[in-house]
Amino acid sequence: MSNTEREILDVDILFVGAGPASLAGALHLKQLIKKENIDISIAIIEKASEVGSHSLSGAVVDPKTLNELFPDLSNEDFPFEFHVNKEYMFYLTKNRKFSVPFIPKQMSHHGCYITSIGKLTRWLEQKCEEQDIDIFAGFPGAELIYNESGHVIGVRTADRGIDKNGAKKTDFEAGVDIHSKVTLLGEGSRGSLTKTLINKFNLMDGKNPQNWAIGVKELWQLPEKRLPDGYVAHTLGFPLGHSLFGGGWMYTMKNNILDIGMVVGLDYKNPNIDPHHELQLVKTHPWMKKILDGAEILAYGSKTLPEGGLYSIPELCVDGAMLIGDSAGFLNGQRLKGIHLAMKSGMLASEAIVDALKNNDFSKKSLSAYEQLFKNSWAYDELYKARNFHQGFKNGLFAGMTNAGIGLVTNGRGFGVYNRLPSTDGHKHIDNKNNYDNFNKYDINYDGKLILDKLTSVYYSATSHNEDQVAHLHVKDKSICVDQCKEEYGNPCQYFCPANVYEMVDDGEERLQINFSNCVHCKTCDIMDPYQIIDWTTPEGGDGPAWKNM
Ligand code: SF4
Repeated sequence: MSNTEREILDVDILFVGAGPASLAGALHLKQLIKKENIDISIAIIEKASEVGSHSLSGAVVDPKTLNELFPDLSNEDFPFEFHVNKEYMFYLTKNRKFSVPFIPKQMSHHGCYITSIGKLTRWLEQKCEEQDIDIFAGFPGAELIYNESGHVIGVRTADRGIDKNGAKKTDFEAGVDIHSKVTLLGEGSRGSLTKTLINKFNLMDGKNPQNWAIGVKELWQLPEKRLPDGYVAHTLGFPLGHSLFGGGWMYTMKNNILDIGMVVGLDYKNPNIDPHHELQLVKTHPWMKKILDGAEILAYGSKTLPEGGLYSIPELCVDGAMLIGDSAGFLNGQRLKGIHLAMKSGMLASEAIVDALKNNDFSKKSLSAYEQLFKNSWAYDELYKARNFHQGFKNGLFAGMTNAGIGLVTNGRGFGVYNRLPSTDGHKHIDNKNNYDNFNKYDINYDGKLILDKLTSVYYSATSHNEDQVAHLHVKDKSICVDQCKEEYGNPCQYFCPANVYEMVDDGEERLQINFSNCVHCKTCDIMDPYQIIDWTTPEGGDGPAWKNM
């Protein structure tokens, strides 16, 4: 068959996205079917050219799921950087730093490990290969395939070799239809297939909307050891102030590499907020400046994270498909941790699949055993205790911290008499630009060494896309950008995008220019655009950032 014709590949179980949820899920499934003497094929597809290249996280990992998955290994066997030895929470003003005297147990990182998620996923990839699990990197899932009854029966991967006008090039290769009994979507935050599945089957009905945050991160090579191994610091206050949800982090990694970053809730009001700018600002603080003196930037990246918690987890199953990991919102915002929950979700889904295989029943009813397994697990208990954490910040930092404090003694209930605090979609919070001053609230000098502009930062994300392809960012009606958004919100896509993809230009005609080749795949635009007219889809396989150890 020529590669211009679409092939059909049959596998039994297909995971989409080679992140921790899929990799752990596939490994656990393999362990379980071995015990049951069931012989099936398991495959994972990944849009990056290599596993880990599109994986970004803080990250301080709770090892409990790895301990469950690899009972014969100890924490020293995992590809961690350091055990958390020194843990701080600082409140920053523009020039000063105050140590928060007490970190509650529920927010402490005691017993956890500083980790590069890139290293962790590559390590898990090796474990999968040892178990004959097929991993196909460079194959983005472009669309879900349904049968005539509306059951998901697999995924169509993206075509290659289509030019920017939509015509086939000489090197055109048709994507593959991968048919499977069960498709598990572990695409990460705001997965493009996940979004269509949630909308098609109304999986968020009756749930709180997902509340997202964006994380922007840099790795720095320090000239010498300046902080102890296993140093973990989180910051509140400067530069975000008290009305924005979020804060900064600083972790030490091996070889005197420093991991710094900033999380900003994607439910802010001021349309001029620019998360990349906030990360640059935090480096102007004297404490940070001193630590980074003489350091060299190594890498930059960004991703969104689902912060909504338990009540923002969608219905997890439809006929033939399941949601796992960040795609399903398995993240504990109070602990700033999702990797252990993502892995656990993949494992619980796999446990449900084993019974489905035995009964040869892949209907929603059968797969929904996953929901019950989750409810009976420590993952549910953990998320239940943090269930109202993010919602409490809707009135600012101090209200949020008070709610979190009350939550610690009310088993997570927090403010009010009801178990569940409501929330609204983050993009609905964006306010009219005329209510806000210019976003450059502090002078900043982009010196190209410590303080980087967005284009320089994108360079350090090693991002590339073949420019002769249809842009993977679809703006449904660009006239809205000029006629409406400019007046109402001042085109906030120029600010919330951490990679300078969106630019309003005037070359005789005012228009939105989309520099899609800069895109670091964070999905912020898909989430935060106030008119919800941006649709992030998968570019050609392998395109995007090329992160090594983010
Ligand atoms: Fe993120 Fe969208 Fe910008 Fe890409 S275009 S970097 S997904 S905000």
